[in-house]
Amino acid sequence: MTGQLLTAGDGPVVRCRLCGRPAAGPCARCRVSVCGDCSVLTDGGATTFAICLTCARGGTSLDRPWLSLLAWLGGIVLAIAALAVAIVALR
Ligand SMILES: [Zn+2]
Ligand SMILES: [Zn+2]
Repeated sequence: MTGQLLTAGDGPVVRCRLCGRPAAGPCARCRVSVCGDCSVLTDGGATTFAICLTCARGGTSLDRPWLSLLAWLGGIVLAIAALAVAIVALR
């Protein structure tokens, strides 16, 4: 009986973009696959993101995910407030 599967030696392994080792996951900003050594954890408010060293190095004036989320929530609150005002005014 020869029922052995093919062992994928160097097959679909995602490699780190910076050093070539097997990647741990994608960067939260630029989606580049990086390993644990080439990524840093950065906390933007409530959540923690793993970003690559390239993004971490030039990450002074980059857009922050939590900031856009805050703006998004603010927009919803404004819309609800405007709706409430409209309902009161129509009465
Ligand atoms: Zn790496
Ligand atoms: Zn990145």
